[in-house]
Amino acid sequence: MFIQHTIMPNLEYDNMVKVARGKMKVAGQTFQYHCYLYEGLLIDTGPPRAKNHIFTFTDNERPNQVFLTHYHEDHSGNAAFLREKFQLPIYSGPQTRSYLSQGFSMPLYRKVLWGRKVPKYRPSILNDHVIQHKSGTLLAIHTPGHSDDHYCLYDPDRKWLFSGDLFLAKKVRFGMKEDSVPRMIESLQHILTFDIQTIFCGHAGIVEKGYDALHAKLEFLLQLSENTIKLYQEGYNIQEITVQLLSKNKKIRWLTHNEFSPHFFIRSIVKETFNS
Ligand SMILES: [Zn+2]
Repeated sequence: MFIQHTIMPNLEYDNMVKVARGKMKVAGQTFQYHCYLYEGLLIDTGPPRAKNHIFTFTDNERPNQVFLTHYHEDHSGNAAFLREKFQLPIYSGPQTRSYLSQGFSMPLYRKVLWGRKVPKYRPSILNDHVIQHKSGTLLAIHTPGHSDDHYCLYDPDRKWLFSGDLFLAKKVRFGMKEDSVPRMIESLQHILTFDIQTIFCGHAGIVEKGYDALHAKLEFLLQLSENTIKLYQEGYNIQEITVQLLSKNKKIRWLTHNEFSPHFFIRSIVKETFNS
C-alpha cells in the first residue's frame, strides 16, 4: 500500500515551543503527528517512518532530554535512535517503560502506516512525577484511557497541557482495542481540575481554549456512555449500538483490518459498566 509522508513546516508558539510535524496519507485518509520541543525538552518522538525528519529536527534544535507520553509507536518510534545518536536521556511513566523494555506487537496496519517495529529500550522513570526544563517544572499526570500507560505534562506557570493522545478531537468516533471510554472519562474529569489554557495534542496540533475543547470531549463521551447503556438495557447488542450511535465509515475499518473501529468504544462502555 502506498504511503505518502509529507513533512510540514515547523511551527513556533509563544517563542517557547517548536513543533516538528508531518502527515501520512494512505488511501485518502490522513494521519498527522506532532512532536513538541519546549525549553530543551522534546515531548514525543514521532513514528519510525519519520526518523529522518526527527533526526534533522533534533540535529538543528539540540534538545537535552525527551519525554514519552505513551508507548504507541507514533510517539515512541524514534526515542531509542535519539538516545543512541545524541545521547539524550529518555523519560516516561512506569507502564510505558515496561511496554518499551519488553517490546510490544503492532497490528499490521500500524506497521504499514507508521513504519517498522520499535526496538526494545528502557526509558527512565521520573522522580516525584515532575520533570524540570530550562525555565520551569512540568507535572506528569497519569491519564489512562487511550492506553493505560498514558501521561500528560502540565505547566502550571503558563497553564499549558502537553496532552499526548488524551484529546485528539472533540468527537472521537474510532478507537483501538485497548481504548477504555470509562477511563478516558475519569482522566478528562481529573485533568479538568487543572487550570488549562492551551493544549498541545499529539495529532490535532496546538489548540487554544484547551479547557473548553477537553470539556467538549468529556461531554461527548458522557453522552455516548449514557446512550450506550440505555440501548444495551433495551436489549440491543454492541454491534447494533455501534451502528446507531457512531460512524458507519467502513473505509478506516477496512484499511486497518478492523483494528481501528467504533465498536471498541461501545464495547468498553458495555464491558466496564456491566462487567460482561
Ligand atoms: Zn496513541
